[in-house]
Amino acid sequence: MVPKKRIDEILDGYDLNDITIATLCSHSSLQIFHGARKMGFKTLGLTIKHDTRYYDAFPLAKPDEIIKYDDFEDMESRVDELYEKNVIIIPHGSFVEYMGPKRFEDYEVPVYCNRSVLQWESDRDMERQWLTSAGINMPRVFTDAREINEPVMVKYHGAKGGMGYFIAKDYPDFKMSIDNSMPYSIQEYCLGTRYYLHFFYSPFKDDGYKLKRGGSLEMLSIDRRDESNIDEMYKLGSIEDAKRHGLYPSFVVTGNTPAVIRESLLPKAFTMAENAVERSYELFGGMWGPFCLETVVNDKLEFKVFEISTRIVAGTNPFISGSPYADLIYPGLSTGGRIAMEIRDSIKNGHLKDLMT
Ligand code: AMP
Repeated sequence: MVPKKRIDEILDGYDLNDITIATLCSHSSLQIFHGARKMGFKTLGLTIKHDTRYYDAFPLAKPDEIIKYDDFEDMESRVDELYEKNVIIIPHGSFVEYMGPKRFEDYEVPVYCNRSVLQWESDRDMERQWLTSAGINMPRVFTDAREINEPVMVKYHGAKGGMGYFIAKDYPDFKMSIDNSMPYSIQEYCLGTRYYLHFFYSPFKDDGYKLKRGGSLEMLSIDRRDESNIDEMYKLGSIEDAKRHGLYPSFVVTGNTPAVIRESLLPKAFTMAENAVERSYELFGGMWGPFCLETVVNDKLEFKVFEISTRIVAGTNPFISGSPYADLIYPGLSTGGRIAMEIRDSIKNGHLKDLMT
């Protein structure tokens, strides 16, 4: 991991009146650039041979400049160009996933997040330790496949966007689908409705939903993911029928739709998010900025959290001009805009270094 001292040195060389917000051209970059422009920042798209022409179609979200790299090595070796532009990187899911969490930890440019969180998030056992020790309910884990006696979800480690996940109802079912060459984990299949809760924690804001340790927690929006092909599988009758025809359910994220939860669930949602933040400071120095709790709510109105994403999620993209929740705090503001606002305010109040690793 880049030593914090090195990041502070880089920031010492920056002109804080001329900051550029940069991110990888993918995932939620339209929203990040749009939000950064709204707060008066310059914007820079980083890309590795992506087609970036689609930005021309969205002038208000098109970065001021784009740098095309040959590969991630090229990107890592050309950091001086970014220092000259006073660049702050906004991480998103695809950035960390494509670069790899380990490399991302070592990327020598100031990043808006605590990089120590990456290890806790990318290792499923550590993630579970963090969240369960914060009092958050997670799906039960099966350590022995022969004990499967109810529907379970089998997840390959490092699987991207639900790719390759499968449901098994018993051991024979599991054996039929498992690829033993890859590490996997088995967890209870949580039946209910999925909600992806988008929070934002500001360690410096001192009003609103205040936390014990200080700072303020905001809920900015909620989405539900569209997943292919599981979402439409029911049209073929039972999953078992479909399997007989060689059609297997998959969970590949293809898009997102806006959602709200019943108001009586909000206290529970805030308590979970608050506990995750408080515990993050005890375990690894904190999680700040945007994060998402990926949940299922059952018919007893209980949440189970099957994943935490500790940065902006693509599920915030439907809310570029606000959301039913953000509009009650900052009308018309997206998560991308909220990130830029936090950076702008931290520059003004002399806290920028506290938010960068
Ligand atoms: P993940 O990679 O953990 O975000 O999971 C991808 C998708 O698989 C989620 O969006 C859910 O639709 C589904 N999923 C993951 N874990 C579970 C679970 N324990 N029970 C039911 N569905 C799940």
